[in-house]
Amino acid sequence: MSLIVQKYGGTSVGTLQRIRNVAARAVAAHRAGHRVVVTVSAMSGETNRLVALVDELSGGNYSQREYDVVVATGEQVSIGLLAIAIEGLGVPARSYQGWQVRFVTDSVHAKARILDVEAANILADLDQGRIVVVAGFQGVDANGAVTTLGRGGSDTSAVALAAALNADFCDIYTDVDGVYTTDPRVVPKARKLERVSYEEMLEMASLGAKVLQTRSVELAKKYKVPVRVLSSLEEGTGTLLTEEDELMEQVVVSAIAFNRDEAKITVLGVPDKPGVAAMIFGTLADANINVDMIVQNISAQSGDTDVTFTVAKGEYKQALAVLKDPVAAMGAKNLLGDPDIAKVSVVGVGMRSHSGVAQRMFKALSRDNINIRMISTSEIKISVVIDEKYMELAVRSLHEAFELDKDAGDRVRD
Ligand code: ADP
Ligand code: ASP
Ligand code: MG
Repeated sequence: MSLIVQKYGGTSVGTLQRIRNVAARAVAAHRAGHRVVVTVSAMSGETNRLVALVDELSGGNYSQREYDVVVATGEQVSIGLLAIAIEGLGVPARSYQGWQVRFVTDSVHAKARILDVEAANILADLDQGRIVVVAGFQGVDANGAVTTLGRGGSDTSAVALAAALNADFCDIYTDVDGVYTTDPRVVPKARKLERVSYEEMLEMASLGAKVLQTRSVELAKKYKVPVRVLSSLEEGTGTLLTEEDELMEQVVVSAIAFNRDEAKITVLGVPDKPGVAAMIFGTLADANINVDMIVQNISAQSGDTDVTFTVAKGEYKQALAVLKDPVAAMGAKNLLGDPDIAKVSVVGVGMRSHSGVAQRMFKALSRDNINIRMISTSEIKISVVIDEKYMELAVRSLHEAFELDKDAGDRVRD
């Protein structure tokens, strides 16, 4: 008998008919003899609707604590409905919200991190033959305040729960039938990956492939949770997240990821002296704003530096606001912003042992006349920032340049 955690995303519970479908799947696994815990998101569109209510009411100026109180409610509806649907099929079920489980988190509202999962009540329910239904996305901090885990956070709830329960599988059911070489909605010729290493998936997720929330992959890697990504609407083998092996290393580039959710900020003409970077990035860290790419350039003539970096679009205005005074006090010449950018990345563990990837990437972009504004690399990825309007074109040309529409064995290496 296995213990399986199943997670269903918003589209998969988007209508009552789909909730019945999820109930039937959970019941089938239960009747096959497994112990089944189901984690669900809010019905599709619901979290967006709740976020929009907060924005409209407040004009964007609100307490993060109360934002979490509002946006966490979507999942309360879906767990209750799913538990009712499961019981309608003759199997006892019980639903739990995040604070009832308990998913203990830090107090960084809207992007809280899970510190501990206390799941004794879930195990007791499973012992009594129930299917347990758990709200994704929600947690509770040390003060008892409701927290949420960031958009897409129910993936992380599911993996954290699977780790805490030592589950045999964590099955993430979604509206695609696995992880692809890139988003199949942008490149219809994208291919499904049978297996993907934790490390590649971690890069893909953090570089924008929203099929899994980044934090969920971090936890899966850390606790070696066997995660499968599957379709909730059709049968299939999906994609398995697993440890890296030799076969994977032979493929130079495995996937293309992209992210339109970033904005670029430049601090122009900062006096070149120690403490400047600490000041800029310290100010952002104090405001809990994450910085992604950073480039610093020193002008040989003036001796000033320009510091350019990217932040999430949602934090762009706040970043400009908190930097305004400190940047002026530092004697910088200007503070500029550009929200109309996108980041496109090529990812593959094979890059560790193969050269020429950057050249091939830059050539493909230049063939399409796409200007590169920033570049960053790590051992297994290369990212470029370009104008947002060229993003889909760039993804398609890179997918073609690295022959990702072909079987790995049929690709020409140069
Ligand atoms: P859910 O609501 O089930 O959590 P999401 O919308 O969060 O679903 O994630 C699934 C979506 O991720 C897909 O519909 C697809 O458009 C997108 N996606 C982005 N990159 C990839 C990729 N490499 N492989 C598969 N899907 C991807
Ligand atoms: N409902 C939340 C969201 O829309 C969490 C999730 O879907 O994973 O972000
Ligand atoms: Mg999701």
